[in-house]
Amino acid sequence: MKRSILIHPDPRLRKVCTPVKDVTDALRKLSQDMLETMYDAPGIGLAAPQVGVMDRLIVLDCVKDEGATPRPIVMLNPEITAFSEEKSVYEEGCLSIPDQFADVTRPAEVEMRWMDLDGVEHQEGFGGLWATCVQHEIDHLDGKLFIDYLSAMKRQLITRRMQKLKRELARG
Ligand SMILES: [Zn+2]
Repeated sequence: MKRSILIHPDPRLRKVCTPVKDVTDALRKLSQDMLETMYDAPGIGLAAPQVGVMDRLIVLDCVKDEGATPRPIVMLNPEITAFSEEKSVYEEGCLSIPDQFADVTRPAEVEMRWMDLDGVEHQEGFGGLWATCVQHEIDHLDGKLFIDYLSAMKRQLITRRMQKLKRELARG
């Protein structure tokens, strides 16, 4: 089941999310719904607060090539345990900030730790687009958006555009 994605500005996108304690059926359903919502958008990552759930849960799949095998990953309580000195720049976007893109500089590689839906702990290193995507999604769990890395002027400009978009959507 697809869920609706919150659009910035929304107070729920600015909250720090709560660690997941138990893998419940509701959490499994949420993960499935989030993957469906992400693929449908289409996007490469989605965090629970973007669908209004304040849990530390993200989903991602950065395989973009047509015909390549998808790699959906659900991460509960994801943590970055180490990151590279080396940085990389990607033009980022966000499903909660539609049609707005800007270059963001982040560590090029990260070591991650997370729990899966079977309660199993994973550790893995990510580079390239995957590294940028996990950092962007973990930011969401701490109430942070990619526009926070931009100048105040650029951030305000994008926020005003989103306020206008929300007014238009509310009018129908
Ligand atoms: Zn985002």
